[in-house]
Amino acid sequence: MNVDTNPFLRRGLASTTPSPLGLEVARAEGPWIVTTDGRRVFDAISGIGVSNFGHQHPAILASLRAQLDKHLHVMVYGECLQDAQTRAAEALLRTLPPSLDGVYFVNSGAEAVEAALKLAKRATGRSRLMGVQGGYHGNTHGALSVSSNEWRKARYRPLLPEVDALAWNDVEDLTRVDDTVAAVIVEPVQGDAGVRVPDPEWLRALRNVCTEHGALLILDEIQCGMGRTGRPWAMDHVGLVPDAVCMGKALGGGMPIGALAASREHLALLGHRPTLGHITTFGGHPLACAGACGALEVMATLDWEALERRHASWERALQHHPAVGAVRRQGAFFAVELDSAESVARAVHAGVGVGAENAVLLFWFLSVPHAFRLAPPLTLTDDEAHEGLRLILRTLDQLLD
Ligand code: PLP
Repeated sequence: MNVDTNPFLRRGLASTTPSPLGLEVARAEGPWIVTTDGRRVFDAISGIGVSNFGHQHPAILASLRAQLDKHLHVMVYGECLQDAQTRAAEALLRTLPPSLDGVYFVNSGAEAVEAALKLAKRATGRSRLMGVQGGYHGNTHGALSVSSNEWRKARYRPLLPEVDALAWNDVEDLTRVDDTVAAVIVEPVQGDAGVRVPDPEWLRALRNVCTEHGALLILDEIQCGMGRTGRPWAMDHVGLVPDAVCMGKALGGGMPIGALAASREHLALLGHRPTLGHITTFGGHPLACAGACGALEVMATLDWEALERRHASWERALQHHPAVGAVRRQGAFFAVELDSAESVARAVHAGVGVGAENAVLLFWFLSVPHAFRLAPPLTLTDDEAHEGLRLILRTLDQLLD
């Protein structure tokens, strides 16, 4: 990578890719990101599943402003009761099955996964962990260990030992879950694998086999949760009750936060033998929790039926476009397949590269190069939704030139 030409490294910022989009952000509002050169870019991916309620939502800003006037960090997580944490926990737990009656707030999705994996070891006294083929759970060592995509893992080995992956959506393979397994972690809708929605029967069978063998079932709702699939949580489509849920991304309404929900009985295990068995300085930061309070308040106002009508009509329009091979979707979570990875790269660059006219931000999947993701905000007005779809279709038109 050329340090002089990469726009991040050139400014002394670490870089994650040799070819970043490089948009320079001035401000953002609703579905629009406005760049320093005055372009309006429709955010069709919600910052990768974060800005589910748009940018600068008034209810989220009000919650943040009220907290700013009270206090920021006062003490590491777990020593002082803070009103923002308590309110965020109450609002979050109201959306989850009653058996998940406790929450540990952390700083990111991957941290929630780390907490869940450690909790599984404590709750079962076992160390074997299972993921599912195609799963993505984050980039820390533990989260990477239970994720798929060997190409992304190989350079960082050795990772955690005793980790296996179950075949996706394959009931017969579930016989590999036995009494040595501490936990199985799965996304109820796989994001990075290209919005793969499993058969509900497979998820139920996975629940049953975990119960039978005393293994924890951990759901990763970090990307598919917070309304993205057309219900507050993807597990709501199936009526699935896991032993633990990992959350993050849109939970903070734009603030960085992650959360692990589980039973209070299980969560208590992290606090003794050893005491301070899982600790974090900034977990449950009051401003991040205030963001979560605002985001959960907005999520409670969504009209799921109206949203489904909108996203079904987007799906139809995309499916009819001659550049599109296939569309997979649940709720507002879309994977749009094109004929090649090159076409996806052309679409992403064409989306943001259109002169002074409105542009649109599309993006890749890490593991499905011939598809791009769409995850629009759930709070669009009809006019905004219409304009967003128009910009996406116009971008696809350019592939036909
Ligand atoms: N799990 C899933 C399903 C994700 O999509 C992501 C991030 O994309 C993570 C975990 C990791 O979250 P974070 O990037 O906040 O660590």
